[in-house]
Amino acid sequence: MRIAVIPGDGIGREVIGAARDALDAVSATHGFKLSYTEFDWGCERYTREGAMMPADGLDVLRDFDSILLGAVGWPGVPDHVSLWGLLIPIRRTSRQYVNLRPIRTFTGVETPVREAEFDFVVVRENVEGEYSEAGGRLNRGFPDELAIQEAIFTRAGVTRIVGHAFALAALRRGYLTSATKSNGIVQTLPFWDEIVAERAEHHPGVRWDAEHIDAPAAKFVLQPGRFDVVVGSNLFGDILSDLAAAVAGSIGIAPSANLDPTREFPSMFEPVHGSAPDIAGTGVANPVGAVWSAALMLEHLGRPDAAAAVLAAIETTLAQPSTRTPDLGGTASIREVTEALVRSAS
Ligand code: ATP
Ligand code: MG
Repeated sequence: MRIAVIPGDGIGREVIGAARDALDAVSATHGFKLSYTEFDWGCERYTREGAMMPADGLDVLRDFDSILLGAVGWPGVPDHVSLWGLLIPIRRTSRQYVNLRPIRTFTGVETPVREAEFDFVVVRENVEGEYSEAGGRLNRGFPDELAIQEAIFTRAGVTRIVGHAFALAALRRGYLTSATKSNGIVQTLPFWDEIVAERAEHHPGVRWDAEHIDAPAAKFVLQPGRFDVVVGSNLFGDILSDLAAAVAGSIGIAPSANLDPTREFPSMFEPVHGSAPDIAGTGVANPVGAVWSAALMLEHLGRPDAAAAVLAAIETTLAQPSTRTPDLGGTASIREVTEALVRSAS
């Protein structure tokens, strides 16, 4: 299995090293081999050469089975450069229409919420919806100036994301929540709701609710334990998944997957956190988000056994106070945590 590795910037490089160590350990014990090709794409390359990645970068990635990404972004490089110069083109050309964010509690990770245990997944539509360039500005500088932003929801696009979420719920605890706001947004979201109801017919074993976005937002904090799979549009999924990562206790442990479930294109796996310039180079970055992302990659590559072994190693490591990084209240370095993960996964 060929993996394209883009460590990126700041702690991205540090945590990707940890992810590779964990992957090496678990692939050795489970009898398969991963081959890695590393790419130096990111803000340093941008500063040097004026582009985050080479012109043929997107074509190069097509030859790989998966992409493992650290983080991109650095002070002085505008967000739109790192986003539109790398992340968004990869997501779009690789048709990664599913953004998956598992959220769960671990022994040893304190959360800001009262419920002791929860385990759910946010499924975000990743390529269409509210994040479109359609629209415009009129009467610039005049009192009647206005801005129009169009959201684009296609039947094919909504059907595939909702279908993916139902299928995932069927494999988990059989409960799906659809985040909507069709009482206020009266074209696109009623359309979304209709398609959810249609897809539900194909999954009679899955219970489901459509809830206006404000309700799941509040319940993520008050009763996170009631959720299993939550599906939302690009904008709603974006906000809910960041909220969910905060509810889980530390951004340093949150993983994500950008999936093309058809497997025509490579899927991309990356921790939720950014390049964290404030702690980059100090050796205290939490590697768990990247290592868990690597576990999601193994699952996608058809090695759920190895993925489970990595997750078990994460559980064991987080449960020990001596192998927790400062963001979790510990004093361990990324090296100590990585060594513990590798020991436990070997
Ligand atoms: P983005 O690059 O997406 O704009 P950001 O700059 O908003 O991200 P991060 O780079 O993720 O945010 O950092 C936010 C805060 O969380 C920082 O204080 C950072 O040190 C901390 N943080 C992020 N990731 C980790 C990690 N893996 N381990 C420990 N602390 C982390
Ligand atoms: Mg940042």
